[in-house]
Amino acid sequence: MKTKGMLLVVSGPSGAGKGTICDALRRHFPHMDYSVSMTTRAPREGEKDGVNYFFTDNDRFEELLEKDAFLEYAKVYDHYYGTPKDYVFNRMDAGHHVMLEIDIQGAMQIKKAYSDAVCIYVVPPSLEILSQRLRNRRTDSDEVIRKRLDKARTELDWIDKYDYLIVNDDLEIAVSKAKAVITAEACRSRRNSGIIENLKKMYTLQ
Ligand code: 5GP
Repeated sequence: MKTKGMLLVVSGPSGAGKGTICDALRRHFPHMDYSVSMTTRAPREGEKDGVNYFFTDNDRFEELLEKDAFLEYAKVYDHYYGTPKDYVFNRMDAGHHVMLEIDIQGAMQIKKAYSDAVCIYVVPPSLEILSQRLRNRRTDSDEVIRKRLDKARTELDWIDKYDYLIVNDDLEIAVSKAKAVITAEACRSRRNSGIIENLKKMYTLQ
C-alpha cells in the first residue's frame, strides 16, 4: 500500500520571502512537487507560461470554475488565481508532497476542505522591513506597495488559523524551520499507514 503525499500550503505577504523559501524546499525534498496555479493576471517580465503560472483569460478561468477544476481559487488584486485540482490529487496519490504557494483566502478554503493539509504562514520581522523589501524590489508602484501593505495588515487577524508561523528574519533559519515542519509532519503515524500495513505483513510472515 502506498503512502499518500502531504498537501503543504505556504502563504504570506509579498516580500515576506515565501517564494525563496519554497524554492529551497523544492531543492531539498525530492518528493516535493510544486503546483503551478492558473491566473488571469498578465505575465511579468521573465515569467513563463506553465512555469510560473498558467496564464489565461477571464472567460476560460470562469469556464474551468464551472467545471469544478480548481481545488481552491480566489480573486487577488482584481485577478483570478486558482489551483488545478487534477494535478494536485494525481501527485498526492503517487505519494508526492505537493506545495501550494497561495493567498490567505485560498489557504482558508483548503483548511476547511482538507483538514490534513499543513499550512504555514511566512512573515517578515516587521511591517517596516516588509515595506523596505517591497521598495528595494523596484517592481511595484507606490500605489501597489500601499495595497500590499494594507493586505499584510488585514491578514494579521488570520495568522492563528495556520498551523505554523515562520518569521523570516534570517533566510537560512527560516528555511531550516520550514524543513523541520515538513520532516515532522511527514513522520506523523497517520500519514504512514502504508508503512504500518507493510510492517504488519512482515511480522506475520516471520
Ligand atoms: P502574484 O501576482 O504576486 O504572483 O501573486 C499574488 C498573490 O496570489 C500571492 O499572495 C500568491 O501567493 C497568490 N496566489 C498565487 N497562486 C494562487 C492560487 O492558485 N490561489 C490563491 N488563492 N492564491 C494564489
